[in-house]
Amino acid sequence: MFIVMLGAPGTGKGTVGGSLEQGLNIKRISSGDIFRTYVKKDKEIGKKIEEYMKKGLLVPDELVVELVGKRLQEDDVKNGAILDGFPRTANQAKELDKLLSKNNYKVDVAINLSLADDEVIKRISRRRCCSNKDCGEIYNLDFKPPIKDGICDKCGNSLIQRDDDKEETVKRRLEIYHETSEELINYYKNQGVLNTIELGKDKSITSNEVAKELIEKLK
Ligand code: AMP
Repeated sequence: MFIVMLGAPGTGKGTVGGSLEQGLNIKRISSGDIFRTYVKKDKEIGKKIEEYMKKGLLVPDELVVELVGKRLQEDDVKNGAILDGFPRTANQAKELDKLLSKNNYKVDVAINLSLADDEVIKRISRRRCCSNKDCGEIYNLDFKPPIKDGICDKCGNSLIQRDDDKEETVKRRLEIYHETSEELINYYKNQGVLNTIELGKDKSITSNEVAKELIEKLK
């Protein structure tokens, strides 16, 4: 099964995607994580990617499709994956269809996590991530605080705030999200695979509860 996670930054795509990964036993691929690894390890491509990420801008489609496409050819995700953060534009969605159709696959479901901008900004400002890139656990100081202040429950490394989670960059990321998301959401709506979850309607609904409901449905 191929699942794509849509939604503004900070809506919980990574957290919900991570729970779906465990509940459905399907690997999750995060384009953001792929890029952060390049930034750390690859001087040439990494530097180029970092310039966009730092400013809160989208990495150009061509490079995104090349790097995520490469990951999608690996054995552990050839027959199914949860795509978190990719596609982000209708053009990327079309390119994803092309990639999947080579193996006679298609996107089975697009999960769209919807939340008002002010709530997104609030959530992101409270987001912390494990500094250990092999762990990468995500926390929220309100909804999912670590047991020990500033320390990852899972691996004991320190928690950090991502550079692009600072308020000004988040605002830019949100602007870009609104420029590109309508066409992308309509693309999956027209394919009849869109499943929108209005997070703002019930403020107490956690990413875990969203994931639990989805796992039941998708199974
Ligand atoms: P994320 O971890 O999904 O919030 O992504 C962090 C950053 O990586 C984004 O702000 C973009 O700069 C870049 N990025 C991640 N996925 C994509 C994508 N599908 N297309 C373009 N840029 C992306």
